[in-house]
Amino acid sequence: MALTAVASGVVPARTRDGRSAAWAATGRDGGVSTGPFASANLAGHVGDDPDAVAANRALLAALVDTTDLAVMDAVHGNAVAFVDEPGEVAGVDALVTDRPGLAIAALAADCATVALFGHDDRTVAVVHCGWQGLVHDVVGETVAALRARRVAVAAAVVGPAVCGTCYPVPDERAEEVRRSRTAAVAAAALVRCADGQPGIDVAAGVVQRVQELSPTAVVARSPRCTREDPDLFSYRRDGVTGRQGLVVARAGGGA
Ligand SMILES: [Zn+2]
Repeated sequence: MALTAVASGVVPARTRDGRSAAWAATGRDGGVSTGPFASANLAGHVGDDPDAVAANRALLAALVDTTDLAVMDAVHGNAVAFVDEPGEVAGVDALVTDRPGLAIAALAADCATVALFGHDDRTVAVVHCGWQGLVHDVVGETVAALRARRVAVAAAVVGPAVCGTCYPVPDERAEEVRRSRTAAVAAAALVRCADGQPGIDVAAGVVQRVQELSPTAVVARSPRCTREDPDLFSYRRDGVTGRQGLVVARAGGGA
């Protein structure tokens, strides 16, 4: 059995002794969960059978050729955790590692997930970002955490997220997003739905933030909308549902 990757790729090493990084974005299919979590749910907090979640997480790690996985239990904040061992990390919205063979994953079901690939061919990061993440600049905080380790972002991947017109919000919410870290992020994220109501394209805001902080980074964004695509979990569409993941790992084989 294998989780179905809705998108995947390899970021090649830039240096001769560097390590490539594999990434994969999952959807609903290929896992062992049942009911509203069928079948590839990766989150423990949504009411799914813990054994099924554990099995799905093992399948997630296998997508990037490892058995070691660190997952975060995101809280819509901007805290960043450095990890060098498997397990679940609570209370943060970004994970960073430089351990080859350790997969790190961000989970979501409409929010944006982001993978950042360091220019050092060692460091990788994953970020969970909804509208609050734009306001609290979780992407900027993660890039700053990489810079503190003297690592620049060489490439980024943004996983499937709800699109702007599928995410209408009240004017007050749009006003909050207007106070994002930069005006360009707010401009990228705020859209106008057909009925005139504001909408938030979180992934567009994320792409803007990565590009303005790391102008030379190669940034790829999934075009898929979680709410429109039945192959993806969507909280806004289904309420009680699972979470898909964006997972990344550097090629393993010793330290
Ligand atoms: Zn949509």
